[in-house]
Amino acid sequence: MSANRLSARILLGLVLGVAVGAALNLSSPGAAAALDRYVFSPVGEGFLRLIQFVVVPLVFAALVLALDALRGGGRVGRYAGRLVLLYVVSSAAALSVGLVTAFALRPGAGLERSGTGAAPGEAAPPLEEWLVGVLPSNPFEALATGNLLQVIVSAVLVGAALGRLGEAGAPFVAFVRSLYEVSLKVLELVLYVVPFGVFALIASVVAAQGLGLLARLGVYVLGLGLAIFVMALVYAAVLAATGSRPGAFFRSFAPALTLAFGTASSNAALPVVLKNAERYGLRGDVLAFAVPFGTALKRDGAAILQGFNAVFVAQLYGVPLTPALVGAVFLSALLVSFSTAGVPGSGIIMMTTVLGAAGLPLEGVALVAGIDRFTDGFRTALNVLGNAANAALLDRWERKSSGS
Ligand code: ASP
Repeated sequence: MSANRLSARILLGLVLGVAVGAALNLSSPGAAAALDRYVFSPVGEGFLRLIQFVVVPLVFAALVLALDALRGGGRVGRYAGRLVLLYVVSSAAALSVGLVTAFALRPGAGLERSGTGAAPGEAAPPLEEWLVGVLPSNPFEALATGNLLQVIVSAVLVGAALGRLGEAGAPFVAFVRSLYEVSLKVLELVLYVVPFGVFALIASVVAAQGLGLLARLGVYVLGLGLAIFVMALVYAAVLAATGSRPGAFFRSFAPALTLAFGTASSNAALPVVLKNAERYGLRGDVLAFAVPFGTALKRDGAAILQGFNAVFVAQLYGVPLTPALVGAVFLSALLVSFSTAGVPGSGIIMMTTVLGAAGLPLEGVALVAGIDRFTDGFRTALNVLGNAANAALLDRWERKSSGS
């Protein structure tokens, strides 16, 4: 299926999902709840599982092959260093856009404080624990649990070893090459059901929650949407300024962006981002490293959400926004954005960490919990966009420094 056809079909699934979900919610809330429980939710959940089926083998195989081709993997350290630098600068920019938008639009001013949803029960892990957890103690455990950063570290270790091995590693490389091809074929098959999966996911949210809550928190939703849009424009401008062909970029990554919007999961979109990156023309070893690395770490949408939301909560509870408070929000939101998982709803779980670090009331989370799934799609699309754009910038940087 061509990429254009795929994004058109995903979009159709999205639009129909909203229409069917809203019609059901308005006409018969009882039937909507039953349909959601027995049809939309299980179909959507099943689809998310299916598309994630190839994530681990694809990332592992692509990275091992790229490293093997690099013979020893000396470049990986440079790629990682450059990417981290690009990530910190661009995430700080995203966070600033979120903060400025919240200051300007004042989404929390004059709003009722009563909760409209349940506060999330899960707490985010402490940062130091998360950092140690990046190192796998068992490669099979890393692959089996699908912890992306651990998969990357495992693949880098194996790839670096293979690059130093020669003949003894050849059968393993042949196996991994075959694993890569098989994973791509499986992905091709799964892509046929994407529009149905996206339809079910969106219909489920809209049927269960309706669109009424959106209107009540209209300034919050529109403000977040505006900040996300502005950041997308910033990326387009940076791509243009660095000669990275923004037109071709958005055309190539359209399927991945629509999929990210529909699934609200960066992890689920990862296989399609890899495919699209090839279409856009990123160098094989750059995309094999940068795309999974960014899927594990890079979350501009989450950075915007955390900054915007913290200001919203402060406005809601009448807490003065002192420079010290804004500084605490900035630092914690930046760090938290890097440790937000690429699954639906993880941004809201991390909110408690930022609010806690800044000494803001945690109850603010309950008010926005009900609309999180609506904004999650936009945030995830920006997460994927930022990841792909940074991979493109790294590619450009590498070509420049090697003079090609
Ligand atoms: N759902 C987002 C993602 O997968 C994370 C978030 O909740 O912000 O990228």
